Amino acid sequence: MADDILKKLVKGFEAFRKEHYETNPDKMKDVVENGQRPKALVFSCADSRNSPEMLMGTEPGDIFVGRQIAALVPPYDKDDKDDTIAASVEFAVNTLKVEHIIVMGHTSCGGIQGLVNDLSEGSVGHWVQRAREMKDKVKAKLGDKANDHDTLLAEVEKESILWSLENLRKYPAVDAALKEGRLQIHAWQFDMKKGEMNAYNPQTHQFEPVATDVAVEEHDHKHGENCVPFPKKQNKKRGFHR
Ligand SMILES: [Zn+2]
Repeated sequence: MADDILKKLVKGFEAFRKEHYETNPDKMKDVVENGQRPKALVFSCADSRNSPEMLMGTEPGDIFVGRQIAALVPPYDKDDKDDTIAASVEFAVNTLKVEHIIVMGHTSCGGIQGLVNDLSEGSVGHWVQRAREMKDKVKAKLGDKANDHDTLLAEVEKESILWSLENLRKYPAVDAALKEGRLQIHAWQFDMKKGEMNAYNPQTHQFEPVATDVAVEEHDHKHGENCVPFPKKQNKKRGFHR
């Protein structure tokens, strides 16, 4: 029944209201009266299984979120009429002063499947085709291995996150904040099948499970360096250079 989902949503909101307005009224009061102060911007796919707030147990005010198919962040183009992403980046970095941007892709991504399958029709096709060059490069790099659909898919899923991250660097707000050393950018991937959150390690060129102690030491990144969060002991020399 279509109404079942509506009932679920209404019930869900009721539980939220109870938790945040009745049981712990201070939770919302602070962020409403004093404004939001999120420390991170998270870009994630619009996939229904992939909500950053749900996956990472955040509270209102914790993260600023941008969701688009396949979590793609296309190259910056000041003349782009579809500047939704640029607006989110600019607002989060310049106004909210977030300290981290995480591009969080995921496995079993329908958008990436569309890209790999050369989907070009409709708005979805138009959107994923923005990353075609990246996909072609992955294909060329894999050579014969690209004939194996699953291998190609897995590789494009990962590479798309790194592609987005590199594009992100060129957004004026990000470029400036990186140079000022007040921002770090991260490539994460939610592995749905395994139930793992992985982060790109530029030293091993692999996505590796994020540690639970991902605290990045403050003032550890001079000259606009930024790094992927890993355990503290390894973190010091880990700059994101790619
Ligand atoms: Zn997806």
